[in-house]
Amino acid sequence: MSFAKNWIRKDIQSLNAYHVPEPIECLKLDAMESPFSPNQDFEKEFLQHLSKVDINRYPEPSAREVIKSLRSLMNIDENHGVLLGNGSDELIQLIALACNEGDTILSFSPSFVMYEMIAKFSRLNYIDSPLIDFDIDLENTLQLIKETQPKLIFIAYPNNPTGNLFDKNKIKAIIESTDALVVIDEAYYAYSRDSFLDDLSNYENILLLRTVSKIGFAGARLGLMIGASELIEEFNKIRLPYNINSLTQSAATFLLEKKEYLLEKAKEIIKERERVYQYLLNRSEVDVYPSDANFLLLKVADANHLFQFLIDNNILIKNLSNAKNLDNFLRVTIGYENENDAFMRALDQYYGE
Ligand SMILES: *Cc1c(COP(=O)(O)O)cnc(C)c1O
Repeated sequence: MSFAKNWIRKDIQSLNAYHVPEPIECLKLDAMESPFSPNQDFEKEFLQHLSKVDINRYPEPSAREVIKSLRSLMNIDENHGVLLGNGSDELIQLIALACNEGDTILSFSPSFVMYEMIAKFSRLNYIDSPLIDFDIDLENTLQLIKETQPKLIFIAYPNNPTGNLFDKNKIKAIIESTDALVVIDEAYYAYSRDSFLDDLSNYENILLLRTVSKIGFAGARLGLMIGASELIEEFNKIRLPYNINSLTQSAATFLLEKKEYLLEKAKEIIKERERVYQYLLNRSEVDVYPSDANFLLLKVADANHLFQFLIDNNILIKNLSNAKNLDNFLRVTIGYENENDAFMRALDQYYGE
């Protein structure tokens, strides 16, 4: 047996690594990135600002300026605490780290895959409540909560990969039914009609996660946790020091201040999403689902075939066919107008106009 096989935890050996395709030269509509790059739109000023970073020094430990910019961008009340992570993925892991051995995490399927992966890394139990028509099955979920007494519940709102908002009253019923910490993951808040930000003060057992990854800063790796100060202070104890590096801090304090610009770009994406949605609705070969995010979920007769056709035409979207209960589903991220046009033209070609 090799050293690695001998040394590494058996349950880790049996995991599949989170698969990210190697970048290829193509139109990238697979990863919910924003097509807009704020640093290019403000290039000169941005570079000047970045050049002031003292890269030989450790970053500002609590990234106060970044938190200030995020509070202003997202209208976060001063009463709520904010904690930053190296992407919201890091915060999901941090929350899992705070659980006891043997605790259970509950989420839904299909939903964001990192909840289950992080539960496994952290040696926690994981269960999911299958969605019905992409909404929460409340009866089954409450039953599961009763049976398994989860410590943590992750709810993506809007959900990934389905793109919809769950029924808010069902989420409230879940929050009220449990002693678990309910984490509302609002990665797509910028494209969504609704949020739990205004409900934060009404419950002591909820926490919000957001990220700037989907609004033009995926490369910066910056996520945030919003919640009661007492809870945030506890989580802050297990955050690794300096988890937000100086370049990210500097970039964020400059670019997140461009509030009007960022809101404008989000609006453009929403407008484009509606345009692509209408196109797909009119395509009888494709089922498309309403979305509050910057992507659309589609179902076709042969997803693998269409996916490959798009690749051959230099368009990369996400093939979900291998995921549980998502046979023949595909997910396309909304890009620039001309990119969305290219995607729609390719479908015209594939199916005939
Ligand atoms: C993309 C995504 C995240 C991860 O965000 P990062 O800040 O890039 O780590 C978290 N939750 C959901 C539901 C997502 O879709």
